[in-house]
Amino acid sequence: MYAYVDACNKAYGGNWRVLPVFQFEGATTALSISCNHCDNPVCLKACPANAIKKERNGIVYVNQQECIGCGYCQWACPYEALHFTKDGTMSKCHLCMDRLGKGMPYCVESCPTGALSFGWLGESDAQVNYLAPPSITKPRFKIIPPRDMKIVASPLKEKSESNVKGLIAFTVGSEISLGYALFKLPYYPLLSFYFWPRLFLLSVGHAKVSSRSIRVMFNLKTSWLSREVLFGGLASLLFLLEEFFYVLYYPALIFLGLSVISSFMIYMLKSRPSWYSPDTPISFLGTAFTTISPIAFFLSHQLSLLALGGAWSLVEIISWYLYKRDVRIRGVLNLIYLVSLMLPLITPFTCVVPTTIALLSEIYHRTHFFKKVKYYGVPKY
Ligand code: SF4
Ligand code: SF4
Repeated sequence: MYAYVDACNKAYGGNWRVLPVFQFEGATTALSISCNHCDNPVCLKACPANAIKKERNGIVYVNQQECIGCGYCQWACPYEALHFTKDGTMSKCHLCMDRLGKGMPYCVESCPTGALSFGWLGESDAQVNYLAPPSITKPRFKIIPPRDMKIVASPLKEKSESNVKGLIAFTVGSEISLGYALFKLPYYPLLSFYFWPRLFLLSVGHAKVSSRSIRVMFNLKTSWLSREVLFGGLASLLFLLEEFFYVLYYPALIFLGLSVISSFMIYMLKSRPSWYSPDTPISFLGTAFTTISPIAFFLSHQLSLLALGGAWSLVEIISWYLYKRDVRIRGVLNLIYLVSLMLPLITPFTCVVPTTIALLSEIYHRTHFFKKVKYYGVPKY
């Protein structure tokens, strides 16, 4: 154990500071890294509970009394600086904020070689090839690399999200419900009975500290999760009342649309390059149109509805070609879907064929999306 990592662990009990060691040409060097107290703390912006704060002196810290344990800050941070504690709340380096004025942060104080220092930084400089692009968060630190040596390491990693099946069901289900309500398929006001458990899952289900789950809506200013919950809640309420006041259909649909937009904006994170792509909104929204439009055509015989499904599938194919060609089967499925749209023109009840193919394509896309997540983190070496 290295002295300053040890000092931090002993003081706070977490693994806030890590030390990747690089070997090259017979020499060894290391990078000591924890939270960088960024000028643009994307963790804070992603936190739906407003539990992450930035002090006037620049320190970014987690108020664990307000954390609901949803983990969204971890998705947003490109430096893997946040860690769950045993009680389900999040923790990270707070630069020993209670000690400042009396002493240095423990890591700086215990570093035997003086390799770590602490103070006001004029210009931060994290422009090194082995960390995430500093433009994402504008981190407040400076690295002085070893002279005449180039460290070969990569911050780009790949992993699978836990609960992939749940995430697929949740996202695909939301978008299908949008299409269902948009095309006014039979009994669509009953959708509100789908939304209530969905909202429950978004708030209580996502929170490791469920007693505080109401806080999931506390950061409407910057958190897309807060917005998704609010818009989804309003949509479900209005769909319920729409049975009695038909005019409420339109605001209900708008809030449902805003909820779906918020749901894919959650994934537009620069810290996760495989998610941060125009293909994400195109495919998420596409589910609403490609799966439902053949059924809507079957019920209404309006050709324009079938054409809408075909047009969106074409957009998905172009998006796939431009951004996600590595997911080959999806492109093939979308092509088959386009051809299969001819079937309902001949025999309307065959609308189930393109709908099934569209569903398979979206599920395939989402499986890849959540299982092969490319993200920035502490460099691989
Ligand atoms: S390093 Fe990560 S956790 Fe720390 S302030 Fe920046 S984005 Fe937030
Ligand atoms: S509430 Fe969620 S996003 Fe906010 S600090 Fe806790 S785990 Fe992170």
